[in-house]
Amino acid sequence: MQDAVSLRAALVKAVAEVVGSHADELTALDQAIGDGDHGINMKRGFEAVAADAAALCAKPWPDFLKSVGTTLVMKVGGASGPLYGTLFMAMGKEMPENPTAADLPRAFRAAILAVQARGKAERGHKTMLDVLIPVAEALESGIYETDKIAAAAHAAAEATKPIKAVRGRASFLGDRSIGHMDPGARSSALLIEAVSGILENE
Ligand code: ADP
Ligand code: MG
Repeated sequence: MQDAVSLRAALVKAVAEVVGSHADELTALDQAIGDGDHGINMKRGFEAVAADAAALCAKPWPDFLKSVGTTLVMKVGGASGPLYGTLFMAMGKEMPENPTAADLPRAFRAAILAVQARGKAERGHKTMLDVLIPVAEALESGIYETDKIAAAAHAAAEATKPIKAVRGRASFLGDRSIGHMDPGARSSALLIEAVSGILENE
């Protein structure tokens, strides 16, 4: 158990590191079915969050999450910037200053609904939602073991391969989007694994 400021700092470090170390892979996935910028977009956004970590992490959970979201909207760009930004901002709206374990699934679900409203996408459209929604379901069913959550996220990202994209740039490819993992699904799985790794001891 660490104090909230240190916990937020550890989370920021972990997500920035995982995005940075997988930027080339995310770009390669986006080259196959998009425009090849997802890794660069995400790296730029999470580097900006990390650069501002001291100020961000000093804020209480709701403001911290909202500010991370705002930074992502401003810095990531593309389709994923506003969507990841919405995810974090909506989480911030739902989280109390002193969250308990029960607040996480509730806030996460509310944040996913906000992403769905913004992007007009459903599960099965081959997007980040194909990872976020099953993870929300796992949390709602009381699964809190972090290795199981991470495994569920990676399995869900893998399961986007055979899907034909309905939303995002990949949908322009029609059937040619089949057989490739969705870049946003992969980045979501990486983020969830990184967050899980930090929350493991809390
Ligand atoms: P862009 O497609 O504008 O180049 P990125 O490459 O950064 O943006 O992000 C692409 C990812 O964004 C996709 O792989 C997908 O997961 C996600 N995405 C795109 N459109 C939507 C949407 N409407 N709803 C949810 N996620 C989406
Ligand atoms: Mg792209």
